[in-house]
Amino acid sequence: MHNAGAESDPMPAPGLYVVATPIGHLGDISARALSILRDAHAILAEDTRHTRKLLTRYDLHTPLISCHKFNEAQRTESVLQRLAEGQVLALVSDAGTPGISDPGTRVVAACRAAGYPVYAVPGPSALTAAVSLCGFAGDGFVFAGFLPVKSAARRRKLSEWLAYPLPVVLYESPYRAMKLLDELIELAPERTIFVGRELTKHYEQSLVGTATQIRAHFEGRSTKGEWVIVIADEQD
Ligand code: SAM
Repeated sequence: MHNAGAESDPMPAPGLYVVATPIGHLGDISARALSILRDAHAILAEDTRHTRKLLTRYDLHTPLISCHKFNEAQRTESVLQRLAEGQVLALVSDAGTPGISDPGTRVVAACRAAGYPVYAVPGPSALTAAVSLCGFAGDGFVFAGFLPVKSAARRRKLSEWLAYPLPVVLYESPYRAMKLLDELIELAPERTIFVGRELTKHYEQSLVGTATQIRAHFEGRSTKGEWVIVIADEQD
């Protein structure tokens, strides 16, 4: 058992802090996240250039170390070494909560396995934003992350998720958003769908309807931007 310390502590306790950062609006960062990012010995970042913009906006000068899906395994050793020295490390991804369809899981697991404390600094995630906005998934849902890209595997996976007796939350690239709506028109024409596009950004959009209705809305319109989709279960 470890204790991350009271709010008034001058320095956070040593350990790894998993810090959520904005999914669009830079104002969506907690006071505690900023204070951890300021006080950490180093920040492990998915893309250091991306995180530097956030640090610049808040006048923070903490050293950044890259930690992305291609080097996360190698990075672990130096992370454990720093924790052995009693350092405070923050882990961030480009947007939202690390470890949710983002790097972070391996470092977290390695720190935990080695007995170092891992602390939550919760905040934005497209997942929780979508669940709280859709109006039909608050009592339980499954998070499916991204579907496979290749058609056959994608269709199989989507059918599996649709068989769950719970709403399903999906992330999707704007390049495949219309394809997903077409697949849903075919596989789940009656279901209610929520689309959250560009949440917290200037062109934020929330749509609820059948896949056919949502597809019709985007006919001739841009599908650019970030998409999160919630598919209601059959009871809804
Ligand atoms: N870890 C992040 C989180 O906690 O939300 C998710 C990272 S994942 C690589 C990025 C995907 O999240 C995007 O492709 C999109 O599906 C979704 N996403 C991120 N920001 C979003 C936003 N502002 N509006 C809608 N969806 C968003």
